[in-house]
Amino acid sequence: MATLFISDLHLDAEQPRSTEQFLDFLKTEAQQADALYILGDLFEAWIGDDDTDPANAPIVNGLADLRRHRIPCFFMHGNRDFLIGRRFAAATGCELLSENEVVEINGVRVLLTHGDLLCTDDEPYQALRAQVRNPGWQREFLSKPVKERRRIANDLRAKSQTAISEKSEEIMDVNESAVAEAMRAYGVTTLIHGHTHRPGIHEFELDGNVATRIVLGAWYDQGSVLRWNDGGFTLATLDR
Ligand code: MN
Repeated sequence: MATLFISDLHLDAEQPRSTEQFLDFLKTEAQQADALYILGDLFEAWIGDDDTDPANAPIVNGLADLRRHRIPCFFMHGNRDFLIGRRFAAATGCELLSENEVVEINGVRVLLTHGDLLCTDDEPYQALRAQVRNPGWQREFLSKPVKERRRIANDLRAKSQTAISEKSEEIMDVNESAVAEAMRAYGVTTLIHGHTHRPGIHEFELDGNVATRIVLGAWYDQGSVLRWNDGGFTLATLDR
């Protein structure tokens, strides 16, 4: 039995293979797990729980089915699906986590976060994040018709793609001081995040201790999962 961590699946009707792979993962490995943690960007875009896009139904049902198998599922917002709310949580049985969450996994205190908060060198992104995470902005956005919301989301996505193409790789990675600060603030030496799509395990020194930062991979070309059991953790890819 293992606790499983995934992020950055970016599920989208236009990329059906990722959805198929995720549904298969839910029916197989996830059903044998101690718990499943989804650390954001499960969806490429989420414009509100009241969107009845039929492409989302199998995913919601797949998660609900996991719940019926009594596997605890936890969900943390990413920068694409931060509008996931209570209705989604009720439909899937996933428990919503806050943007920084400390959990104990096999006796180790671990900080979980999507990862975008740690990319402090990307100032324009952080400004945009502050805007769209503002409750007033979200209320106004959610009051618009679904069709208009979809148009705004597509616009934002196009703008973000242009911005990304103009930014250096370095600016879009996590900032080392931000990582150290977050780990200190939560009193942990282990951190798991996604967002950067640069899967890896990084060991470094933090105030005289060995600290570990585990980065989950994106699901564009294949699945990616962190498995953590009594024997330790492994970061693996799921072949298609
Ligand atoms: Mn992200």
